[in-house]
Amino acid sequence: MKYLYYLLIYLSLISVSFAKNDANILNISEPTKYIAQDFDVLDYSAELEFPVLAEKSLIAVNEVTLRWLTRQDTSKFYFHLRGLNVDSVFYDAVKVQYSKVGDSTSATMHFEVAPPKSNLNDTAKIRIYYSGIMTNEGKLQPWGGVHYDDTLLYALGVGFLNNYVGTTQHWLACYDLPSDKATFHGKFIVPKGNNVAVGGELDSLDKSSDERDIYYYSYNYPPATYLLTFNIGELEELKFDGASVPISVFANPKDTTAARFAFKMVPEMVTYFSETFGPYPFTKVGYVLTKKGSMESQEMINYYKALCWSHYSKKDSSNTTAAHELSHMWFGNSVTPFDYRDAWLNESWATFSEALWMSHFANYSAYLSFLDSKRSLYINNLTKIEGVIPLYDFPRNSATSNYPSTIYMKGAVVVSMLRWKLGDSLFFRGLTGFLKKYKYSNMTSEMLQTLFEQISSKNLDQFFDQWVYNPGWPKINAKVIYRGMDGDNYLGETLILEQTQTEGWGFQKGGYFFDLPIEVTFKQKDGTRHDTVFYLNGDMKTVPLNQEKYYTLEINRGINQKALMETTGIEYLDATSVEESNSIANLHYSIFNKTLFINFVKSTNYELQIFDLLGNAIFNTQSYNSNEIIADLNSYINGVYYFIITANGKVLVKDKLILY
Ligand SMILES: [Zn+2]
Repeated sequence: MKYLYYLLIYLSLISVSFAKNDANILNISEPTKYIAQDFDVLDYSAELEFPVLAEKSLIAVNEVTLRWLTRQDTSKFYFHLRGLNVDSVFYDAVKVQYSKVGDSTSATMHFEVAPPKSNLNDTAKIRIYYSGIMTNEGKLQPWGGVHYDDTLLYALGVGFLNNYVGTTQHWLACYDLPSDKATFHGKFIVPKGNNVAVGGELDSLDKSSDERDIYYYSYNYPPATYLLTFNIGELEELKFDGASVPISVFANPKDTTAARFAFKMVPEMVTYFSETFGPYPFTKVGYVLTKKGSMESQEMINYYKALCWSHYSKKDSSNTTAAHELSHMWFGNSVTPFDYRDAWLNESWATFSEALWMSHFANYSAYLSFLDSKRSLYINNLTKIEGVIPLYDFPRNSATSNYPSTIYMKGAVVVSMLRWKLGDSLFFRGLTGFLKKYKYSNMTSEMLQTLFEQISSKNLDQFFDQWVYNPGWPKINAKVIYRGMDGDNYLGETLILEQTQTEGWGFQKGGYFFDLPIEVTFKQKDGTRHDTVFYLNGDMKTVPLNQEKYYTLEINRGINQKALMETTGIEYLDATSVEESNSIANLHYSIFNKTLFINFVKSTNYELQIFDLLGNAIFNTQSYNSNEIIADLNSYINGVYYFIITANGKVLVKDKLILY
């Protein structure tokens, strides 16, 4: 789905509760806690009659075909249903009791059905008869659930501001959690003359009655329940040729002019993504214009109607939102997280896909601009509203939501950094390998990391720890020291890059980010530019510039990549005015590898001596015409020592050193 405008989320602060209120609930998965179940749903076959669209009324029966994976005395089938009344439940054609667990405030409110003791079949067909008036998640910004707007009755499968996330349970009695994907057969009985837009394949259409039409649809590629939708009303189907699968956009006749324009690039999007991610995983591409949206319902995307008109009026056919939702067919729909802690696996990758689309639609510079706009919006605006939250298992209470904008904006830049770290060939091989391996099934962040590690032979613990599992971003202060000028340009001697954040973010919440690519642009007065990516490991790095010419410096605005970072300042310093006492640019002891790193502002001859408390010299190292000393102290026992650093024989610093 596409993020809501974050201001709306901010304005609708609500409090949601994920508290468990019943010991029984422990057996069922929660939105952010996957628990393996005794059953596996294989198929839902639902008969859904919509007598009066405007009333949102529904008369339904859903036949659930399931297989028992294990069968114990306590084994039960669970299903969710909100706002509708269960009339009766049959287990293999025998009427059975059912019980409701939790109330509407509970994140896990559901119904339980125990198999009759006499029935020991491995598979079962459970028929649930239910009816009533369909509702949605409510609250101030109702999104997930069922709506009737502009004569269209439609359903969106997730909500922003509820505590149960999946909202297909507002119209379908089902196990409404993403971990159990099942095929779906829908018999949609609608008032005569209305069209039905859903995913899957249209098996048949019965128009023999004077009062109603019946549409039979089959989803043969098992969707997660939150990816089901229906859209019923006066809808015209627009077909778009040019891709390997049929593409349709369903719109009210009033909106078809705008839709024809706004979606004209979709065939090229389908082709481009199929080449980039692997073959399109389903049989058709559908969009339907709805008043609320956008939502990546499988093969039938609910697309925000006002945005379609905005593209039309601006004559902008890039339509990154169409690309975002289309990319979800791979990220989220074919490959689905087990639970919503991993929502970033959908949204970060779909937003990154928008950037990819911009690189194809326009050029690589548009890709970087797109990412930079997300980076800037994230750091400068979002974090002030949503707080600083991680991509994985973020808090869901106000002022964030089930889909905080952080996972879109920060997430897209983080994915682009993984691309830069691995390089295109490994990144795209990992990406397509991942999508192929977990096609039509479920996955986790760990599985994603493992697959990229296998393909790249690189350990990605640090990358995932600092960017995915922990919050925050590096704040970079740069000092550039010059000695003399050449015409209008300064002659660079040393560049010092320093992480200045103090929030305890970064790798293992130790305060710093590692392997951070910082792209520095040396710009001369005549516009000549030179872009170089430096890698910062830990708090500070000193780089000799070898008389690199520049008039101004830019950071993270280069032509190669975009890092999730903030530039807090660039200082221009004259070397002759930098005091010798400032010669040590950085002195850093790493407990991870028990090593002392010392960087100096300029290159000359340095010596490091270390003494124990009795004054015995235990370590000595020298560097010649260098600006760095690295002392591996692994062979020394932990304890208190003293060290002296000299430059050309002159003492720069004496201090205590604690090895641990
Ligand atoms: Zn999305």
